[in-house]
Amino acid sequence: MTCTEFLSKMTDYFDGTVEQTLLVEIKEHLCECHHCEVVVNTTQHTIRIYRDHQVYELPEDLRERTISSILARCKKSQ
Ligand SMILES: [Zn+2]
Repeated sequence: MTCTEFLSKMTDYFDGTVEQTLLVEIKEHLCECHHCEVVVNTTQHTIRIYRDHQVYELPEDLRERTISSILARCKKSQ
C-alpha cells in the first residue's frame, strides 16, 4: 500500500468500514510509514476533541427534547 492509497481509505478506516484484508494492509503500512502514522495520530486526536465537545453528536434524549421543544414552538407560532 502506498501513502496515497492509505489516505484515500483513511475516512473508511476511521469509520471502521474497511474490509479485514484491507485493514491488515493499512496496519502494515502504518508500521512502516511514519508520515501516515503521524497523520492518523493527529486525526484521532482531532476526532477525540470533537467527541469530547459533542460537536456532532447530541445525546439521544437531549436531541428528542430539543426537537419536541422546537416543534412545540412551531405549533404556538401558527
Ligand atoms: Zn504512508
